[in-house]
Amino acid sequence: MASIFTKIIQGEIPSYKVAEDEKHFAFLDINPNAKGHTLVIPKKEENKIFDLSKQEYAELMDFCYRVAKALEKAIPCERIGMSVIGLEVPHVHVHLVPLNAMEDIQFVKKEKLSNDEFVSLAEKIAQNFE
Ligand code: 5GP
Repeated sequence: MASIFTKIIQGEIPSYKVAEDEKHFAFLDINPNAKGHTLVIPKKEENKIFDLSKQEYAELMDFCYRVAKALEKAIPCERIGMSVIGLEVPHVHVHLVPLNAMEDIQFVKKEKLSNDEFVSLAEKIAQNFE
């Protein structure tokens, strides 16, 4: 069965997309630690990150780099934190989190955002993606 993230890539489940290329997809986490918290995933459905080939891993990191640059430009923050964590969804996902405090990367504190806020954040990040 397709993972929830594959359904997002295919547009079956809506998401706030910020970037996409042939092999990757980036979208706002629906339950964000901080404004701009983004998930970056390979389109290929693989459960564990280190089961990707070295090349797939390197390509994923390259795409994360580009998304992180866009986040830094779009979201006021001290830096972008990166984490591969969690057991919830069996589809590789890299969390990119704009950090202003260590709590932002501890996956405890959560932000409540309106639909309008999600839309405007996704647009702002997308505009800065190169
Ligand atoms: P993890 O596997 O890292 O514990 O959790 C998966 C992450 O995906 C969580 O941060 C959760 O908020 C996010 N997530 C789960 N389902 C959805 C969804 O349907 N849409 C979006 N945008 N994010 C999701």
